[in-house]
Amino acid sequence: MRHAGSFAVFVVTAAIGCAPPPPEQQTINDAAAALGGRDRILAVKTLVLEGEGTNGNLGQDMTMDATSQAFALSGYKRTIDVAASRARIEQTRTPNFAYFQGPQPQRQILGVDGDIGYNVAPNGTATRTSNAVAKDRRAEILHHPVTIVRAALDASAKLSNPREANGQRVVDITASSGQTFTLAIDGTTKLPTRVVSMTDNANLGDVAIETSFADYQDVSGLKLPARITTKTDKYTTADIRLTKQTVDADAGDLAAPAAAASAAPITGPPPATVTAEEIAKGIWFLAGQSHHSVLVEFADHLTLIEAPQNDTRALAVIAKAKELRPGKPLTHVVNTHHHFDHSGGLRAAVSEGLAVVTHDLNVPFFKEAMTRPHTIVPDALARNPKELKIEGVGEEKTLQDAAMTMTIYHIAGNPHADTLVMAYFPKERILVEADVFSPASAFQPYAANLLENITTRKLKVDRVVPIHGTIVPFGELLKTQTQTKTTS
Ligand SMILES: [Zn+2]
Ligand SMILES: [Zn+2]
Repeated sequence: MRHAGSFAVFVVTAAIGCAPPPPEQQTINDAAAALGGRDRILAVKTLVLEGEGTNGNLGQDMTMDATSQAFALSGYKRTIDVAASRARIEQTRTPNFAYFQGPQPQRQILGVDGDIGYNVAPNGTATRTSNAVAKDRRAEILHHPVTIVRAALDASAKLSNPREANGQRVVDITASSGQTFTLAIDGTTKLPTRVVSMTDNANLGDVAIETSFADYQDVSGLKLPARITTKTDKYTTADIRLTKQTVDADAGDLAAPAAAASAAPITGPPPATVTAEEIAKGIWFLAGQSHHSVLVEFADHLTLIEAPQNDTRALAVIAKAKELRPGKPLTHVVNTHHHFDHSGGLRAAVSEGLAVVTHDLNVPFFKEAMTRPHTIVPDALARNPKELKIEGVGEEKTLQDAAMTMTIYHIAGNPHADTLVMAYFPKERILVEADVFSPASAFQPYAANLLENITTRKLKVDRVVPIHGTIVPFGELLKTQTQTKTTS
């Protein structure tokens, strides 16, 4: 009996030793083996990835779905200190389109050091990013095959939901930090094909950030992808081709610069300040910070031009409008174009019951944007859902009653966006526009087209009321063209 008992214990032990790991663990084990082995991955201290590529222009292209605008990236260098949770991207970006900051190459340094995100300007000035940006950059550290598999191998990581899709094996990973990721590996090569994590985007709500890996190469006993492509939702934001990859090189000093490390955390947008100036009877300039609005009084209702930036700004502007004319309902908001900084307050405006007036090309996108889930960071519309009322504008639309006449015109053919409209007040000879002429801006790549639109439409303008900058006489717009002629 004693002998038989020992034998039974031996059999059970052997059975445990040979039992295959659960499928979620098997996927990680296979990925680790394909990349160079568990021990090799755990030994990695730093990664330095150098190359070139492009950045997309998410939310700022000619239309929401356009992909013609990009920044060409040169001198791209992504350095990751794997164990210290520090990373930095250095790159020079050059716009392939008429950019408001000008055509010259622009050096960028974008970093994260633990909880602190930071940017370093070309002049060396470091600033702290918002906590939300820092969180996204922390997640980005694990958007690489080596770092995500290393994190999944950690004893405190939780693996779940193993599945197969399109010839790939997929597993969810909760890292020791608490961040969650989805990893997919190729069913044949077992090499990671993509990492996905969810984040909040003020305009798009809950979005997947998906990084895809291709063109694996042998580097210092590891397989590393030479092509890394990143999407936010369905929009490609980065496409990088690596020409030099170094494992365990001296990563340099990746600590957050002192100016950023000592700055107060930025937990959200700054409080809104809204000033009100009546620039003609029934027309108020609602300014105060970087993005302005204009309030228009009709006989029995009010219309707002622009709900910019975010909930904070838009709700403050709406509150100011109600304070100025408490007896009249604020019923409409005119959107100048789809760009995220100009449409970021539309969801808040819809939550306040305002109907949206916008160029026809924006209607499908705004319909989608108003119904997208915002569960990660619930915004005003998520907390107070309302049905979208939307009116498209083609070439022009006149809104008129006994008290006010305002015509909304498409700004046709402008290189800034295909979705632009301007508001014209014929009696007051006022023109409201966004981005195509920002007084005092060093570059005016869109002003010639604005003038063309004004001439073609035979508008008589005395004052230009910009969404950025101060109100100026029409002559200031004309000067942008003589200045261009002088300097060219
Ligand atoms: Zn714009
Ligand atoms: Zn703008």
